[in-house]
Amino acid sequence: MGDRGHTRRRLLRAAAGAAAGIVLGARSHSFAAGAQASPAAAGTLRLADDLFVIGLPGEANVVAATGADGVVLVDGGSAGGAAAVMRAVAALPGGGQVHTIFNTHWHPEQTGANERLGTAGATIVAQENTRLWLTTDVTWPWDGRRFARLPKAAQPNRTFYTSGTLPSGIRYGHIPDAAHTDGDLYVYFPRQNVLAVGDVVSGQGWPVVDWTTGGWIGGIVGGLQRVQALANEETRIVPGRGPVLGLAELKTQSAMYGTIYDRLTQLLNKGRGPDEAVEAQPAKEFEAQMGNPDDFVRRAFESLWAYLSPDA
Ligand SMILES: [Zn+2]
Repeated sequence: MGDRGHTRRRLLRAAAGAAAGIVLGARSHSFAAGAQASPAAAGTLRLADDLFVIGLPGEANVVAATGADGVVLVDGGSAGGAAAVMRAVAALPGGGQVHTIFNTHWHPEQTGANERLGTAGATIVAQENTRLWLTTDVTWPWDGRRFARLPKAAQPNRTFYTSGTLPSGIRYGHIPDAAHTDGDLYVYFPRQNVLAVGDVVSGQGWPVVDWTTGGWIGGIVGGLQRVQALANEETRIVPGRGPVLGLAELKTQSAMYGTIYDRLTQLLNKGRGPDEAVEAQPAKEFEAQMGNPDDFVRRAFESLWAYLSPDA
């Protein structure tokens, strides 16, 4: 019980810290830049003079690194939000043309700017599995949602299997645990000590367990461990949604998903199904902070079938 209160305090502190970061970031920018440059637009969090998180309402986080040769993005918003994201990028101090965009994974919330940027000649970097998902149609069996393959110009045009480095020193790599999909990547900005991890880490509510394209609950646990190994105490970790996190929040999440994973595998081993898994309430003590877990529990249990069942 004491642990529960502790967890809640941590989550609240993380949320408060992120809100304070927005205010402080905007203020220190206006002091530093003087009268010539316009301040970054509302919803933009300044992590460093040349590194920002663009958080538009309803859109996933977009990380933007500015430089003399243009802008590097990690994810680009949805197709409907891409124009607003690009306006926010153009308004950044030192902002310019986007020359490189990373797709942390194939989901449309991340890849909606690919077509316009690819057509304009940008390099679209993705793990090879992400490219493959973007060249085929995908249907989610649990809700019938369909995703059409992207046109050629929108597909990643520079892929990798394990890791790589941009000339500017920005490092990137595969997160092979299949936390969210089988093509998840991280991008690490060493000078600013910022790690962007897409939906491998959820900063806001329960994650989607997209087992159709490889994600599973065991991968969430493994991915959180891997991200912690990539980070240090000062690293700021940018998830796909929600506030910027630190190592402490990742440890809290690891414990939570580890607990749920153990309970679900026990249910699986007893021959239970998804309905029974939801009824067993394996995430009950986390509901107050995280919201109703039923969809998450169902998807997470189904993901165990995909990974652990002998006849899968
Ligand atoms: Zn996603």
